[in-house]
Amino acid sequence: MQKRVLIIEDSRTVSKVMQHLVKNEPEIDAIFCTTLAEAEAVLDKVGPHLFAAIVDLNLPDAPNGEAVELTLARQLPTIVLTGSFDNERRERLQAQGIVDYITKEGRHSYQLALKLILRLDKNTQQTVLVVDDSATVRSMITTLLQRHLFHVVEAANGRQALQCLTEHPHIRLVLTDYQMPELDGFALIQHLRRQHDYDDLCIIGLSSANETSLSAKFIKFGANDFLHKPFCHEEFYCRVNSNMESIERIQLMRDNANQDALTGLYNRRYFFETGPKLMQQSREQKLPLSVAVIDIDHFKLINDTHGHQTGDMVLKGLARTLKQGMSRFLIARAGGEEFFVVMPGIDSERAHLLLDTLRQVLADKPIKTPAGPIVVKFSAGVTDEWEFSLDQQLQRADEFLYQAKSSGRDQVISDRSGHTS
Ligand code: GH3
Ligand code: MG
Ligand code: MG
Repeated sequence: MQKRVLIIEDSRTVSKVMQHLVKNEPEIDAIFCTTLAEAEAVLDKVGPHLFAAIVDLNLPDAPNGEAVELTLARQLPTIVLTGSFDNERRERLQAQGIVDYITKEGRHSYQLALKLILRLDKNTQQTVLVVDDSATVRSMITTLLQRHLFHVVEAANGRQALQCLTEHPHIRLVLTDYQMPELDGFALIQHLRRQHDYDDLCIIGLSSANETSLSAKFIKFGANDFLHKPFCHEEFYCRVNSNMESIERIQLMRDNANQDALTGLYNRRYFFETGPKLMQQSREQKLPLSVAVIDIDHFKLINDTHGHQTGDMVLKGLARTLKQGMSRFLIARAGGEEFFVVMPGIDSERAHLLLDTLRQVLADKPIKTPAGPIVVKFSAGVTDEWEFSLDQQLQRADEFLYQAKSSGRDQVISDRSGHTS
């Protein structure tokens, strides 16, 4: 969903550049104001729908940063974008709770502010674990992280931290102190590295400035990075953000390797890697498992009539419907306009019903394209005989698909349809 940002800026030139940059960011939508009074009116009207604010310190009716006080008072994450570089003022504003202080040095700085908005948006999906035996340090770090919209979980020692990670397995970043009772920072890292490699879990060690050798030790024990205490806000955010970004980049690379570029569904490689594992699990748990092969009807005709680009949109639209309707199953684009699905937990009777429902959904809701709405139909074959290998199941489902095509298309045939070959 688009994030709506309030931009309070009286310079027309700056606003113009910002407007242009916002246009190129599909994730961001902005409301522009030039005065404090205008900003107040916007906040009264749509305040709860705003995600963050980018605020100039010097406005005609607010020459001393009053606009920042306003957005902070309304609990809006606030990025200050200003022409004046004043160290003392920056520190004061940071203490008041702004997200960042960016000086206007051309286009690059405006881009930076928008990037930070996107970063904040991603942070809302992340939980960080803070491990320190000092409640004061924990609370200080938690406040800084929450200001950048991270969710935070705290632990007072290594043992508690391990417990927290079991309870919150989606945590990707841990900040840990060294000296702690029960289990210290190094021992914690050693434990964590047995289960998580550097790309899955990022660990930043915290050490006091008078223990310089600790930072090297942190890295040797398996931390990704370290921070000397006390640290300034900016350094803290730089370390956290750059580590978070590198973990996300690796995740993106993994996703790219596993996904089909056009539809975002899994690709064949991932399907044949994961499918057999799902089958094995179902066998062990003695649960049913169905396999389906789906193929769009007369897709070539759509391409020939409306062009390849429209064909691509139809493929994307169908992929969306499949994902929505079968989110808990393994769906892959097998190639062209053919899709494979592995459905653990359901037999072919239920799988058949589910696919018929999706056929109905597509019939009722044509896919929107520039060439107008297009009704997509598909044929499918389904089997649930899991004593076979995945390849054999696919072959069987493919035979049913062939029957469906030759019996007039727009239908599902399964080993419960009475059409067994
Ligand atoms: P049937 O009902 O028998 O399945 O007929 P069909 O036209 O759907 O099947 P056919 O295999 O004859 O044609 C599939 C077409 O899909 C041919 C190919 O050019 C097109 N195609 C394959 N991959 C893509 C793609 O990524 N994008 C688009 N737009 N078309 C594709
Ligand atoms: Mg086809
Ligand atoms: Mg085909």
